[in-house]
Amino acid sequence: MPHLFSSEGLRALRDTLEVPKRLLLALDFDGTLAPIVPLPELAQTSPEIARVLGEIARQVNIAVVSGRSVADVSGRLGFDARFVVGNHGLEGLPDRVGKQAPEVVEQWREALDESCLHDLASAGVMLEDKGHSLSFHYRLADDRDAALAAIDRAVDRLRPAPRLLAGKCVVNALPENAADKFYAIRELARHTSSDMVIFAGDDVTDDVVFEQAPPHWLTIRVDSQGEARRARFHLAQTDMALFLQRLLAEICPQALA
Ligand SMILES: [Mg+2]
Repeated sequence: MPHLFSSEGLRALRDTLEVPKRLLLALDFDGTLAPIVPLPELAQTSPEIARVLGEIARQVNIAVVSGRSVADVSGRLGFDARFVVGNHGLEGLPDRVGKQAPEVVEQWREALDESCLHDLASAGVMLEDKGHSLSFHYRLADDRDAALAAIDRAVDRLRPAPRLLAGKCVVNALPENAADKFYAIRELARHTSSDMVIFAGDDVTDDVVFEQAPPHWLTIRVDSQGEARRARFHLAQTDMALFLQRLLAEICPQALA
């Protein structure tokens, strides 16, 4: 699959922006807008990306669609996105009232008793309660196999059984029949009457979007290895600012003058 800055990629970008299409720009956060960092609490959009997105947001509906909670990701953006959707699509959609998920997660928390939490902690697993889902982080575990085994033991206790979504050094447990990122983006496109979507994401949790996106959507895998797997184009995270500058130049040439 070609690089987004190849002639084919740039042609697709220009075609995508042709009038009279209405565009939704949907972006993952970790690894896409912000580089992956060893401590997730330090992730932040760079000032340049925040500045350019702030300009783009004057012309285009932007949705940040993250696995983090809305409260967590909102403070890391540095610009005002029209939509901030958290918990892999479970939280923050304008027309969706997700009352059920928090109740299920509450029940799960009760099932994870002290000995289970101790088991996780001693395997180097950090449990994060995101209200609508649980995340088991093992990036800092010394022995990742042991960490995954501890996560398996914990997940076995959860009733109703969760849908598991594996990410980079994280296992996410979501209530079954929960919305996912594709559902969220499609609903936002509908909500904003957008007939064109650009989506960029880096994680395996973004595959659901790449796999189900209509063929005319411009899908970009953010990948430093140069792989586009399932997406139409690929781009390194370090080129994200350049991509957004180009996008801004196409949308609003005078903004760069
Ligand atoms: Mg990501």
